[in-house]
Amino acid sequence: MRRRAAGRSTAASRRGRPAETPAERKARARRIIARLSREFPDAACALDHRNPLELLVATILSAQCTDARVNQVTPALFAKYRNADAYATADPGVFEREIQSTGFFRNKTKSIIGMAQALVERHAGRVPDSMEALVALPGVGRKTANVVLGNAFGKNDGIVVDTHVQRITALLGLTRESTPEKIERDLMALVPRSQWTLVSHLLILHGRKTCVARRPRCEHCRLRPLCPSARVP
Ligand code: SF4
Repeated sequence: MRRRAAGRSTAASRRGRPAETPAERKARARRIIARLSREFPDAACALDHRNPLELLVATILSAQCTDARVNQVTPALFAKYRNADAYATADPGVFEREIQSTGFFRNKTKSIIGMAQALVERHAGRVPDSMEALVALPGVGRKTANVVLGNAFGKNDGIVVDTHVQRITALLGLTRESTPEKIERDLMALVPRSQWTLVSHLLILHGRKTCVARRPRCEHCRLRPLCPSARVP
């Protein structure tokens, strides 16, 4: 079922206000980013890593798992597997046990070993820095590629749309779309390219602290004046 997003013809028109123009929405998006940037001046990737390979592995492990849990598992993993070749030749049974606590460990083991084998075969063991090459790796989708490009290579190629970003951008009326790809496209049109990586970090932090999934804490939210879904005036 299509998720309703508060926006141009929903919340605004119900309240008798004129519909928001694209230019007004863009300006509102920038104000939202400015407010969240003041609230979270140190917003950054929450997955511990020292290089693109470590971030790629950590991001694959983070599917259906908290970043905190992944950060508990990765120090030992990164100490043992120091390059793509080490992952590519890992014993799957041993690797499964090493990452078991992150959940879905069989699929994640397949993805990480397969990804590393492809790195060795196609990229001389190095993580490529292009969207096209990253999404061609086994187990790597656009979201993972965006995480790596934005945080390990400093490239704003797209916007990470996870469940927090998906939920909050709908509540904020920044998109009416329901698939990550289309939400990402809407956000890319609203947010300056230089902030594409940042905006995900900000929305994720906001989703953990204030706009929580079960019951958004609108009464404590700095975005309230900018949010058509605010439960309190
Ligand atoms: S006002 Fe409420 S719904 Fe809107 S962003 Fe803030 S917490 Fe979320």
